[in-house]
Amino acid sequence: MEKTNGVKRWNFGANEVVERSSSLSIRQYLETLMSNLGNDGRPVIPLGHGDPSPFPRFSTDPVAVQAICDSVRSTNFNNYSPASGIPIARKAVAEYLSRDLSYQISPNDVHITVGCLQAIEILISALATPGSNILLPRPTYPMYDSRASFSQLEVRYFDLLPEKGWDVDLHAVEALADDKTVAIVLINPCNPCGNVFSRQHLQKIAETACKLGILVIADEVYDHYAFGDKPFVSMAEFAEIVPIILLGAISKRWFVPGWRLGWMVSLDPHSIMKDSGFLQSLANVLGMSTDAATFIQGAIPDIIGNTKEEFFSSKLELVRECAEICYEEITKIPCITCPCKPEGSMFTMVKLNLSLLEDISDDLDFCYKLAKEESMIILPGRAVGLKNWLRITFAVELELLRDGFSRLNNFVQRHSKKQP
Ligand SMILES: *Cc1c(COP(=O)(O)O)cnc(C)c1O
Repeated sequence: MEKTNGVKRWNFGANEVVERSSSLSIRQYLETLMSNLGNDGRPVIPLGHGDPSPFPRFSTDPVAVQAICDSVRSTNFNNYSPASGIPIARKAVAEYLSRDLSYQISPNDVHITVGCLQAIEILISALATPGSNILLPRPTYPMYDSRASFSQLEVRYFDLLPEKGWDVDLHAVEALADDKTVAIVLINPCNPCGNVFSRQHLQKIAETACKLGILVIADEVYDHYAFGDKPFVSMAEFAEIVPIILLGAISKRWFVPGWRLGWMVSLDPHSIMKDSGFLQSLANVLGMSTDAATFIQGAIPDIIGNTKEEFFSSKLELVRECAEICYEEITKIPCITCPCKPEGSMFTMVKLNLSLLEDISDDLDFCYKLAKEESMIILPGRAVGLKNWLRITFAVELELLRDGFSRLNNFVQRHSKKQP
C-alpha cells in the first residue's frame, strides 16, 4: 500500500476533462448568480435561462397532459423501448416534420431521444474520432462545446455576424475547415441571438458544407418560433444538397422541457451518411444510450395529433409581444445595444458599452452586481462565447419583464459615469 507522508494514496480523483468541459455550461453560471442574490425580499427576475413553462401564461396545452395520462392508463407502454424509439412515436414525428416540407420524411430516419440534448450527446459521441474537429457558431449554445470538449473533439468557431442579422460568416467557415472537419452546427431559430435564417442563407450554408464535405447538424428545437418578417424554413429542405441531421424536441414548442422528449432525424437521400458507415456508428451509439421513457413516447401521437394550431399561434403571439417589449426597453438603456431586433426563439443578445459605466469591469461583473443589487438574473455573454455581451430571455410573464427592465434601468443609472 503506497503512502506519501504517511497518508494513504488513492488512484482516482477529479477528472480534468470533465472539469474543463462542465465549466462551459450555462447551468454553472446561473447557479453561481443565483447563489449571489441580494436578500431584499423581492422576487427574482429570471431572464437568464429559457424555460417559461412555470409561468401560467406559458403552460402547455391540456391535450398534451391528457395524452400523457391516457398513455400511462393504457398500460400499453410499460415496456422497454427499442433503441430508436417505439414505431408509433417515430411515425408521428416523421409526419409532424413533413407537414411543412416539400417531401415526406420516413419514420425509419427518425430516432427518438431523451430531449434534444441527448441527441446532441449521441451525435457528438458518434462524430468524435481522434484528430477530428467540428465547426460551432459563436455565440453558441454551449452544450455543443461541453460535449465536444468531453468527447475530445476539437472545436473551431465561426462567427455569427451581428451587423448582418447574425448570418453565418461563410468565408470564416471555408477558412476554418480542413480534411479533419466532420460537421457544422447551426441553430435556427437561433438561441442565443434570436435571429431566423432566410431560405437563401440556408441554401448557401448547405452548398458550403457540401463543398467542404461535411455534415450539417441543424438544431431546430425552436422550430416555428419565428415572429418577425422571415418565416421559419427547415434545413431539411436542402437535404438534396448535403447530408443533414435534424434535431428537435417537444420541449420548447409545447413548453414541456421536463418531459425529455426529442428526436434526431437523418436526411440522407444520396446515401452518403449510410455508405460512409456513419449511420451505423450513430445507431451503435444509440444502442448503448438510455431510451426516452416509453409512456412519454406512447403519448406522442396524441400530443402532436391533438394540439390545435390555435395553441401554437397564441403562444407565438405571446412570445412576440414579450420580444417587442424587450426590444423597446433595451433601446431606452444607453449602455446596452441590441444589434438585431429579435425575430425568433426566446432570446436576444445585447452588447455592453462598458465605457459608459463607472464601476463595472465586464459582463460577468455586470451580472453579479445585478443579481446582488436587484435580484435579477441575466446571462453573461461569455457563457455563450461573447465576452461583454449579455443574453436576455424575454419569454416570461409580462409583469416580470416590465419589472425586470425597471430594475435594470435603476441599476444602470446607479452605475453610469456621471457627466462632468
Ligand atoms: C433547449 C435547447 C436544447 C435542448 O433541448 P431539450 O429538449 O430540452 O433537451 C438544444 N438546443 C438548443 C439550441 C436549445 O435551446
